[in-house]
Amino acid sequence: MDFALTEVQKMVQDMARNFAEKEIAPYVDQDEENHYYRREILTKMGELGLLGWSIPEEYGGNGMGWMEAVLALYEIAKVHTSWRLSVSGNCWGPAMTINQYGTEEQKQKYIPGLVSGEYVGSFAITEANSGSDVASMKTFAEDKGDHWLINGSKMWISGGHVSDVGLVYAVTEKGAGARGLSCFVIDFNNTPGITRIPINTKFGMYCAPTSELVFENAVVPKENLLGPLNKGFQICMWQLNNTRMGCATGAASLSAAATEGSVQYANERTQFGKPIGKFQMIQQQITEMKLEDEAAKYLVYHAAWLKDNNLPNQQATSMAKLYACKAAVNAANLAMKVYGSYGYSTEYPCPRWLRDAKQFETLEGTSNIHTTIVANIELGYTPNR
Ligand SMILES: Cc1cc2nc3c(=O)[nH]c(=O)nc-3n(C[C@H](O)[C@H](O)[C@H](O)COP(=O)(O)OP(=O)(O)OC[C@H]3O[C@@H](n4cnc5c(N)ncnc54)[C@H](O)[C@@H]3O)c2cc1C
Repeated sequence: MDFALTEVQKMVQDMARNFAEKEIAPYVDQDEENHYYRREILTKMGELGLLGWSIPEEYGGNGMGWMEAVLALYEIAKVHTSWRLSVSGNCWGPAMTINQYGTEEQKQKYIPGLVSGEYVGSFAITEANSGSDVASMKTFAEDKGDHWLINGSKMWISGGHVSDVGLVYAVTEKGAGARGLSCFVIDFNNTPGITRIPINTKFGMYCAPTSELVFENAVVPKENLLGPLNKGFQICMWQLNNTRMGCATGAASLSAAATEGSVQYANERTQFGKPIGKFQMIQQQITEMKLEDEAAKYLVYHAAWLKDNNLPNQQATSMAKLYACKAAVNAANLAMKVYGSYGYSTEYPCPRWLRDAKQFETLEGTSNIHTTIVANIELGYTPNR
């Protein structure tokens, strides 16, 4: 077993770190305060190839795989967790799914813009009354012969109101449950009948916009069906097994950021005539954070390695996501204690870490759902795909 990174991987890691420090770090505080989505960061990510993982080069992909992707995303999310969504929103969500299930025409039409950052991507599964139970969704796409007519609504969609191209999952056969869903590629700028409403009440992830989408007789061209009719549930599960790596990586990264910040603070802050890092109880907190952030990182690496080698990885992906979420929330919580009163101030990053860490327990399968996935595979009730 070789834990060393290749020269290319080190280069990718350095490049992403430099990018995040130069292009994202200077704006974190002001963008957090204004809940501002800095669109140009996505454009720059695209220019650097940071949105083109595991995508064939003929469609603009960067020729690299999952391990390079998680190394890069880890560096970006460490600086500002809101930006961890960009890779899932553009690459691992729509681009990769279109590459897997799309026609040649769909691939040529949509993938290059998603990986170059010309488009903002998104994927819409959740509805107000359909979260963990994906198959209970109600948004209906009616076959009108020469087009689809979509009615219904989606809730909590990352990037929804700023998105150019997205995947939307809808019912195509009523009463058939998971066997009656299909996936559509939506060109938001050219589809009448869609109202997009920003959700401005979020607890965190202030710089990653979230939206409600309302479809009222939205006319979608026939050729925008992605993959086979009524296979949307399988496509959705395939997509989630990819996009949830964004949560896993982002959570592991946030955990590391909180650990590193706490180490620095514990060395700088003195009480009773010595750095607080010299106190055993602070050391115990630092050790707990370090242990968990390292364990989370290696679970993420392992899932990425399995994906790169086309080996079954669903359980490893769920374990990485589940554990990294716990590590992130715990690290953010402990960091706030290490920083004392200053940890409770927005002049320091602790409140942002805690706010952003909490998202991970809900998105892309709640922690309960991932616990179920891991257990069902371990117990032999479902296969590990
Ligand atoms: C910031 C943000 C961004 C998001 N981005 C997107 C996006 O881009 N696209 C998208 O489609 N969705 C998105 N979502 C939605 C997210 O994926 C859902 O919120 C998530 O799937 C959970 O659904 P729910 O909120 O309806 O919770 P529910 O499913 O109602 O769950 C409520 C509680 O019940 C528990 N529960 C439910 N079923 C079970 C079960 N079988 N066993 C045990 N416990 C269970 C859950 O774990 C949870 O604790 C986003 C959400 C947020 C907050």
